[in-house]
Amino acid sequence: MTGAASGIGRRIAEFYAREGAIVGVADLDAGAAERAARELEAAGGRASAHRMDVTSEAEVDAGIDAYAERWGGVDILVSNAGIQHLDTIADVSFADWKRVLAVHLDGSFLTTRAALRRMIGGKRGGSIILMGSVHSYFASVKKGPYVVAKHGLLGLCRTIAKEGAPHGVRANAICPGVVRTPLIERQLPVLAREAGVSEEQIVHDLFLRLTVDGEYTTEADLAEVAVFLAAFPTNALTGQSISVSHGMHML
Ligand code: NAD
Repeated sequence: MTGAASGIGRRIAEFYAREGAIVGVADLDAGAAERAARELEAAGGRASAHRMDVTSEAEVDAGIDAYAERWGGVDILVSNAGIQHLDTIADVSFADWKRVLAVHLDGSFLTTRAALRRMIGGKRGGSIILMGSVHSYFASVKKGPYVVAKHGLLGLCRTIAKEGAPHGVRANAICPGVVRTPLIERQLPVLAREAGVSEEQIVHDLFLRLTVDGEYTTEADLAEVAVFLAAFPTNALTGQSISVSHGMHML
């Protein structure tokens, strides 16, 4: 599981460990990954920490090989690592554009490829879960690279579903609404300062405006769905995306 040392990924790791999965906590932040793995073990789970930059082909391949060799294979991949960058298309630098696309798209491709090879080689099939967003379906201003990357993940998901089916590999995307994680906490003061309003107003007028009830989606909501998708037994559920967003987007 990538980006498993913080926010949504951290909570999914907890739910998976509780369900008996052996969790590979893969994250750019090696110290946080190590701490998260030890906490999962202290709570009775099994886990290993893997320092991994998902944009590095060598680090992804080495991390997934290390996990597979230690634990005997790979059954589930959750490609969850993500970053945000706020700029309009007119202002965003090429470097920032590429950085956001690299984490989401290169990262999901590289981790998927490495996990798929293990799943196909192991002849046990598997489940691949990509972390999309409501921004997989619609756009917001100043989030162009993120919106483009999250739309692209749905194409990757559908392709894996077709190519994985003969090998028993399913692929689905979870598309969260707004979840109060460090990724969101970092955006709040910037957006409030730029708009000249309070952070509370940004939450009310921007983040949660499209929900049916003005509520945040929680990390636990997403972890429940991630457990359900990982455990689903057949190809009846593959190539899909599920919006878990308090109705911010309805399919
Ligand atoms: P977060 O910032 O709390 O956690 C992201 C994690 O990814 C961190 O541990 C970070 O170290 C790791 N990471 C970043 N770049 C990496 C890299 N190159 N290689 C490996 N790890 C890297 O964020 P979060 O809110 O938990 O987001 C998790 C996922 O959920 C992201 O893909 C994000 O786009 C998506 N998402 C979040 C929200 C939200 O409201 N928080 C909404 C929709 C989608």
